[in-house]
Amino acid sequence: MTKEDGLVVPGDFLGTSEEFTPGTGVYDEKGNIYASLIGCVSISDKRVITVVPKVSTPPMLQEGDIVICRIEDLRESIAVVSIACMLGQEDREVASSTQGVIHISNVKRGYVNELQRELGFLDLVKAKVIDARALRLSTEDKDLGVVKAICSKCKGDLKRKGNVLACERCKRVESRKIAEDYGKGLSLRL
Ligand code: ZN
Repeated sequence: MTKEDGLVVPGDFLGTSEEFTPGTGVYDEKGNIYASLIGCVSISDKRVITVVPKVSTPPMLQEGDIVICRIEDLRESIAVVSIACMLGQEDREVASSTQGVIHISNVKRGYVNELQRELGFLDLVKAKVIDARALRLSTEDKDLGVVKAICSKCKGDLKRKGNVLACERCKRVESRKIAEDYGKGLSLRL
């Protein structure tokens, strides 16, 4: 199944290598082709499948903007993220080097003991810009948080099971500060 008119995110299944020849922006794993970046799927006449990144002038982020970002590094009290795109302006990708920070106090309401229990390495997160100059982000609101989590053991996708996330591949159970629409896709309209 392909999502030709939607936005795909890294790890989205696009098809098999029997159907398509992998081009750029995708990777082949055991005959299955997945997106390796955020963008639009394009299929050529010769069945070469590529993901075209959304590149143009980086928008200036403002306080209150909602962005999709990827967790690049987790330290004791902060998560360093790379901002992939801005919701509502998916056609204007943020410069790829744009990094933001989520401080432990901005992850959710209430006290967070361990950041690693709320955010995971390589997770995709929907967050709000709370300081546009320092690029500080918050995931406190109900609709914000992790939208796609990666298993810390086997790198498989985690599926929501009530309030926790379970890995279908290795059965590991992990917790996250999940967005209320976790797993329902990003429902981005271009
Ligand atoms: Zn796993």
